[in-house]
Amino acid sequence: MHSPSEQILQTPYYAAYSYGPHTVGIVLEDDTTDGDPYRKIKDTLDERDEHGNINQFVVADAETRRHWLRRLGLIAAKQMLKEDLRRQGDRLRGPIDQAAIADFPKDYELYLHKTQRAYDPRKDVYLFGSRNVTVFRSPAEFAEHLIWLMSGSPLKSNGKPDCDCVYCDPSRTQAEISYALGVRHKDPHAPTTARGKGEKAQAAGRGRGRRKRSPSPASIPAKDYTKLNL
Ligand SMILES: [Zn+2]
Repeated sequence: MHSPSEQILQTPYYAAYSYGPHTVGIVLEDDTTDGDPYRKIKDTLDERDEHGNINQFVVADAETRRHWLRRLGLIAAKQMLKEDLRRQGDRLRGPIDQAAIADFPKDYELYLHKTQRAYDPRKDVYLFGSRNVTVFRSPAEFAEHLIWLMSGSPLKSNGKPDCDCVYCDPSRTQAEISYALGVRHKDPHAPTTARGKGEKAQAAGRGRGRRKRSPSPASIPAKDYTKLNL
């Protein structure tokens, strides 16, 4: 991003800049976070078992971070920025090809979890720091939570996040969420579906108004990733 930037939006929660007609950068405000400084810290000790298998967290490298920040920026720009611009009577000059958020929310950290063979470990990427969600395992998993933060972190009457991510609201599967966000092209209900028409249309509705769905039943437990804290 070398071309001169122009600020195109400032909300209480984030600022957006354009770098040419098809590229945008998003900068989160410091308060646009539910991060907890104690939750973002992982023990980075290199542990080996008797078979030489590794179990270690390391802070993610720059390339992995950049990949996540770009994926998240593109989703946020298409799902959030476009609507916010339209609301103030403005619009982007062309389709958004490239975007990035400048950094993760304050007190979040991206890690690689190395496991199995020490000389050629399996590497899984995890985003830690949220006080509401133990861990996010992909940009698509975190996208709705980021959109929730960028919307001012509204709460439900029970004090829980009014967030559409798969952990805050397990009423949709990640496949359904990813499809609605436009990051998964296969409709999870396409071939055969026993579900109601309305729900299907909702899952397919890109750029739909946010959080119009009815609250989810609280009885469905979120997935348990506490084992990651080994
Ligand atoms: Zn969430």
